[in-house]
Amino acid sequence: MITDIGKLLVQPETPVREALQRLDTGGLGCLLLADAADRLIRVITDGDIRRAIMASDDLSQTLSGLVPVTPTTAPEGTSSASARQIMNSAKLIHLPVVDDHGRAVGLFHISRMEAPILLSAPHMGEEERELVVEAFDTNWIAPVGPHVDSFERELAELVGVGGAVALSSGTAAIHLALRLLDVGPGDTVFCSSLTFVASCNPILYQGAAPVFIDSEPLSWNMSPDALERALRDAERQGRPPKAVICVNIYGQSADYDAIGRICAAHGVPLIEDAAESLGATCRGKASGTFARFGIYSFNGNKIITTSGGGALVSDDLEALDRARWLATQGRDPAAHYQHSEMAYNYRLSNVLAGIGRGQLRLLPERVEQRRAIFERYRNGLHDVPGIGWMPEPNWSRSNRWLSVCTFDPDAIGLHPYTIMRRLQQHEIETRPVWKPMHMQPLFQDAPYYAHDEQQSVSDRLFLTGLCLPSGTGMSEADQDRVIAALRQVLDA
Ligand SMILES: *Cc1c(COP(=O)(O)O)cnc(C)c1O
Repeated sequence: MITDIGKLLVQPETPVREALQRLDTGGLGCLLLADAADRLIRVITDGDIRRAIMASDDLSQTLSGLVPVTPTTAPEGTSSASARQIMNSAKLIHLPVVDDHGRAVGLFHISRMEAPILLSAPHMGEEERELVVEAFDTNWIAPVGPHVDSFERELAELVGVGGAVALSSGTAAIHLALRLLDVGPGDTVFCSSLTFVASCNPILYQGAAPVFIDSEPLSWNMSPDALERALRDAERQGRPPKAVICVNIYGQSADYDAIGRICAAHGVPLIEDAAESLGATCRGKASGTFARFGIYSFNGNKIITTSGGGALVSDDLEALDRARWLATQGRDPAAHYQHSEMAYNYRLSNVLAGIGRGQLRLLPERVEQRRAIFERYRNGLHDVPGIGWMPEPNWSRSNRWLSVCTFDPDAIGLHPYTIMRRLQQHEIETRPVWKPMHMQPLFQDAPYYAHDEQQSVSDRLFLTGLCLPSGTGMSEADQDRVIAALRQVLDA
């Protein structure tokens, strides 16, 4: 809000000539007409003045000839988010702010309003457009084509894995991984509880039942202790899981030394949900390459994006060929359309793969940028009592997809949800940490294994954690705005 409005205030006795000069120096294309007590009479635009001059051709006339027009105003204390709503619905470019006595105290003007800061907006580079144009120029618009093949090869090379299949979403990739592992009705699949629902919905697609595993406090990812206990119980009950889906949350890998060893010892295949952690490493090896199958997502909010898309990666090239076949309606090798298995329409289009190729080239830079954003938050807020940050164990190098902080309830009396709502008033988008799957109505009957008897780590993170805006398109000034607003919210 502009509070320095003295130069915009004019009175009925102000001559038109002076009003013109004020319009010129104000640079906003409007003035506020007020009475002697500063009470707002109307807004005057340069068009209003032009019409007054054309009617009388007299620059020494005053503004008293302008008819009062009750202006749309906002009360003192209106947030810029609410002001934007009022302006959008009334199609206004300016909105005066008045106090209880009707006195003008400020002005929202569209040209001076700060843009909303989003949690993780897509960030395109220079080459994506050219690659998409190439798809147009060669008419490879179908879900097959040279970009798809190149994207798969370039992705596999980048992370150091045998091969990749480009798909329409990360969810589709998880679904195909379960299908390849023959998961079906009556089976159970273990899955990290602290995740987005897309990690475990495919378990339901296959008619199987999820069992949720808590996080450990060091990486916030699957607790090896809880996994071990769950596996022992399942074996005792004679129902070992068909697969384990281990999620790398907010860009950080789980501890695959421990998780991998436990799964191997129990003979259970592992799926690595690396939707959020492309570009991260665990002990120097790329996130997404630790399991029988790894999956990535290129959804609009992820570290790189194809607007929507995903990939399945593996060293098992035969399995990947079958995944490609399942992803394209499963046609038998016959010239006519013959099918003997149920399949899906899950392929990524050649146009989107073009975007993906451009984005892939930017990945190393995007990881450094996201990490710098995290460090900037941590430095800028280091003196706030009770604030904590998502840890990074020495074996992990996170891509810091989202910068996540925690608020110690003993030091900070506000729930993350309240902080989120207050930051929204500043047009800053934040989100609480994922609501764990074992707390979801959808999965209320699913068994859950906490890290230990004393604590459920994911419950605590959900109740104390907040994800801050982390998009690489954000400027340092934007980030300073987030830091200042967060300080203000916590001080209040
Ligand atoms: C985004 C995401 C997915 C799903 O990816 P889509 O491409 O949106 O289907 C799966 N798991 C996790 C942890 C995610 O964050």
